[in-house]
Amino acid sequence: MSEGAGRCPVCKDPLAWRGSWEGKDHFPIGYAFRCNRCGTYLLSEEFHDRCRELRDAERASWWFRLSSWIRQQNSMGNRRPEIDGDPGEFIAALPSKTVGEQLDLLLHFVDQQAVRPGRVVRINPLADAVHVWAENQAEVAFLLDSLVEMRRLRLAPPYASHMEYCDVLLTAAGYLHLETLAASTANNRQVFVAMWFDQSMDAAWSKGLEPGIRRAGFDPFRIDQKPHGERIDAKILVEIRRSRAVIADATGQRPSVMFEAGFAEGLGKPVIWTCQADEEAKMPFDTRQLQHVLWKCPDDLADQLEPVIKHRLAQRS
Ligand SMILES: [Zn+2]
Repeated sequence: MSEGAGRCPVCKDPLAWRGSWEGKDHFPIGYAFRCNRCGTYLLSEEFHDRCRELRDAERASWWFRLSSWIRQQNSMGNRRPEIDGDPGEFIAALPSKTVGEQLDLLLHFVDQQAVRPGRVVRINPLADAVHVWAENQAEVAFLLDSLVEMRRLRLAPPYASHMEYCDVLLTAAGYLHLETLAASTANNRQVFVAMWFDQSMDAAWSKGLEPGIRRAGFDPFRIDQKPHGERIDAKILVEIRRSRAVIADATGQRPSVMFEAGFAEGLGKPVIWTCQADEEAKMPFDTRQLQHVLWKCPDDLADQLEPVIKHRLAQRS
């Protein structure tokens, strides 16, 4: 299958598979790719042409961030992240990680692989670069060396980080750092609101969700913009990570609300479901079984939400 599939337009590795991206009425609007490094993604015709035209020097500052972004989207369950629109704008909006964030990402990665303390984890600086938003293996080797210097990681034999692979294990200092990171997130007062962005929901926000959350002693947070198509905005995911809990209002049955709630569940954050009482029967089968705050009007939503938030979040403070 890899024969003749060509190279990944993003990272230039050989592709595992390529197909077409079809819009309405099966009209082709771009390509679908599967790359062993980046993962699976959809690329518009325009973006694809742009990638082909550019010389390596012009791609150097962003191709690895796009590769890591695709991989991150895949790992969060979005198997078909769409790369379209104006290429310049898309690239400008890609997250870029500070060295501090990369060090924490690598530490998290080792922790996930190890599962339990004391287990040795094999890092392949070339293949694992995509997990820590690094451009190449030298950058991963630098991060590994730095974590060893900071005594958050310890090298296991054969004691070298500039080889094809490197065996490491988390130290107690590494675990303590991860615990401090987790605690600083859990202590904040932000509650993320996932809801339908429609004028009919304005009062539910201003008279229901917002005052209800504030009265419970927390700070409501809502991304004040319409999501662009079905794309999961990186900022939304960052804010959910930063939040103490998510309120998911199922009114209008928006797929984005389901995704945001699922993402929060996966991170182990409390999710409180709400829904306008008339729409109870329309709730998707998967989530209908979950307990919802069923509200009749915005004031009723605020009144019901306040004690529920206090109860759910008090257990963790
Ligand atoms: Zn790739």
